[in-house]
Amino acid sequence: MLATMDITINKAEGSKLKDLNLENLSFGKFFSDHMLEADYINGEWTNIEIKPYQPLLLSPSVAALHYGQAIFEGIKAYKDEEGNAFIFRPQDNFRRFNISAERMQMPSVPEEIFMDGMKQLVAMDSSWIPQKEDHSLYIRPFMFSTDEVIGVKPSDTYKFMILLSPTGPYYNAPMRIYVEEHFVRAVPGGVGYAKAAGNYGSAMYATAEAKKKGYDQVLWTDAFEHKYVQEIGTMNVIFIIGNKAVTPDLGAGTILAGVTRNSALTLLQEAGFEIEERSISIDELIEAYKAGYLYEVFGTGTAATISMIKELRYKDFVMTFNVDEWKTAPTIKKWLTDIREGRREDKYGWMMQVS
Ligand SMILES: *Cc1c(COP(=O)(O)O)cnc(C)c1O
Repeated sequence: MLATMDITINKAEGSKLKDLNLENLSFGKFFSDHMLEADYINGEWTNIEIKPYQPLLLSPSVAALHYGQAIFEGIKAYKDEEGNAFIFRPQDNFRRFNISAERMQMPSVPEEIFMDGMKQLVAMDSSWIPQKEDHSLYIRPFMFSTDEVIGVKPSDTYKFMILLSPTGPYYNAPMRIYVEEHFVRAVPGGVGYAKAAGNYGSAMYATAEAKKKGYDQVLWTDAFEHKYVQEIGTMNVIFIIGNKAVTPDLGAGTILAGVTRNSALTLLQEAGFEIEERSISIDELIEAYKAGYLYEVFGTGTAATISMIKELRYKDFVMTFNVDEWKTAPTIKKWLTDIREGRREDKYGWMMQVS
């Protein structure tokens, strides 16, 4: 048995919920009434508190701002038709968060703070979970170093926090993707498998260059040969080749082990596909495309769930797809949404009831 930790509760006086317009929810822009905050000081977690959402008072010398010891997670909470609140596979995010922490030389966050704190926070602000198709409450746990010292070393103090942000249907029109063969996101031995803040800042330049060319995102390739595909933005990528669902394996530590990736693979298997997690070269994809067996390409991630890809460009070779005729990605997306919103049996035990 884990010792329970005391979480101080400090309630907001009123609710901002009445000001929220559910028709116009841009992703990650609105935050609920409360947040969780905890401090790591002298080797232990303390000041664990749920309190009104508010700005932080930080010294400009806090280490995270200078050297980037900062990690995060993204999780979603839903309501079923009876109004019960559920969180989708949070235990997987909890595990991954502490894997990221270890890689960044940060302390692990105990389950009683990450999981119990998250449950308490979501229960308190459960009226912020939009009970509407394709809507959810996005949960953002994060941790950063707080030593007030401009010296390059792991911090002695950290802050862990959880924010809640109501979200509507993520804008996921079919995407045009540029296969990147100059810039690099991750290398073996690097931090590609961690949800570390710096991974996202360092990806922005290449993404901006691709946007200038009219693409939505880049598909990263391996750092040595630019031959094997990795992932897209904040999404893993799955290819339907013949009767197989093929996706890059996690072995090299260069891609994020997505919870949606794992969920989609599980559902693809249920749908009768053979699953292959292995390295995939761009040449193999082009060959399958030319032979007519590369049926579908889609991204998976918590924010967008499943995003279809209508165009994949490698050098001057353009692969286009008629996504309106696709059967697989839309089916997997529907099954996933139906499980999350309580319309399909949760046979894998993915939904954790909040209270
Ligand atoms: C978060 C993220 C994903 C998707 O992970 P999920 O657990 O499915 O949300 C994929 N790639 C990167 C780089 C990410 O940051």
